[in-house]
Amino acid sequence: MTRSELLFEEAVKVIPGGVNSPVRAFGSVGATPRFIKKATGAYLYDEDGKKYIDYIGSWGPMILGHGQEEVLESVLESCRDGLSFGAATAREVEMAKLVCELIPSVEMVRMVNSGTEAVMSAIRLARGYTRRNKIIKFTGCYHGHSDGLLVKAGSGVMTAGVPDSLGVSAGCTQDTLSADYNNLESVKEHFIRCGEEIAAVIVEPVAANMGVVSPAPGFLEGLRSICDDYGALLIFDEVITGFRLGIDGAQGYYNVTPDLTTFGKIIGGGMPVGAYGGRREVMELVSPAGGVYQAGTLSGNPVAMAAGMAQLTILKDHPEYYQNLNESADRFFQNIQKILKKANLPFQVNHVGSLGCIYFTEQKVTDYESAKTSDTKQFAEYWRAMLDQGIYLAPSQFEAIFLSLAHTEAVQRETLEIIEKYFLH
Ligand SMILES: *Cc1c(COP(=O)(O)O)cnc(C)c1O
Repeated sequence: MTRSELLFEEAVKVIPGGVNSPVRAFGSVGATPRFIKKATGAYLYDEDGKKYIDYIGSWGPMILGHGQEEVLESVLESCRDGLSFGAATAREVEMAKLVCELIPSVEMVRMVNSGTEAVMSAIRLARGYTRRNKIIKFTGCYHGHSDGLLVKAGSGVMTAGVPDSLGVSAGCTQDTLSADYNNLESVKEHFIRCGEEIAAVIVEPVAANMGVVSPAPGFLEGLRSICDDYGALLIFDEVITGFRLGIDGAQGYYNVTPDLTTFGKIIGGGMPVGAYGGRREVMELVSPAGGVYQAGTLSGNPVAMAAGMAQLTILKDHPEYYQNLNESADRFFQNIQKILKKANLPFQVNHVGSLGCIYFTEQKVTDYESAKTSDTKQFAEYWRAMLDQGIYLAPSQFEAIFLSLAHTEAVQRETLEIIEKYFLH
């Protein structure tokens, strides 16, 4: 037995399913989770000493690679001053200024501790601001695990075989309307029926929790104009895309301005951080400035802010990093496409910048329905073969892989050779 297998045996006795977040259990690919001991650059090392090229990057935060020196230094220095004060700090002001500077649509921002919390709070704020109750979300988009958003969600929920979740009351989801990604008609239908009751439309501007689905030309613009017509707020959930597609996120990449934006993942540099922000007039409704209550004992935690600030500052100071990352990711995913073509496999390679995936289906994937045509058994076989060869991919057909600046040409080449060997065997 390997150490990971032993640890998993122990884990399932004391942690539900042996993990603290479902996708880590490797359930949908039929494998035992690898217990990770450490990581540097593009590599993970498990408890058995095996080395992997990491294509998850903690689900996005590690855009600079693991163990970036300046980020680490900043965190260690901050630790010495104290781990938490539960009081205002200068660094929070700096962080808020930086986020407002980097994301033009964000005039004010509130820090929280996770993406889930950011989205939950942004929805509450949208309801408070519009004095309306209903929201629209897209099937296959994931916005964290708050009750009202566990409706036709993607990610782990998509493969867990649980349509929604036990324990979520019908009352909690009665105001959540589902529409189809890339289908403006499905959004309009809701607005025609009950437009005066809709507080907000929330969308992943690039859907990255059902694999990776890019917004069709005009889709995000269409959402913007429908929301304007009906006085509803447009919320971009940029927990994945924020600071990834570019320093100004998907809203900069596609040039569409939301009213509110949620952040997570990259913004914390690997520490538990989320944030939501947007137009001043809306944000001023957040307590204690306004009547929408939202709080957090550890929100704006100094050590977490140190990590996030350090990472965002590096990204801001090096605009060329995004160009390099996006170009190198383009080549990487194009090369995968070439391998599949050479192997006469009609599978789809979807990618936007450094986010991407292979769908094991002949159909073009543009929404949840088409994503679901993928052969998840074939995916699982491919995934296990990759893991054996030291390539650590997202353990589900419906999760993205994330490239980082540490995925150099050489690292990518090594990966592509292994992928090629698998498909052309
Ligand atoms: C990961 C994710 C969330 C939830 O963030 P947590 O930090 O896991 O709570 C919300 N929205 C999107 C788009 C995500 O990818």
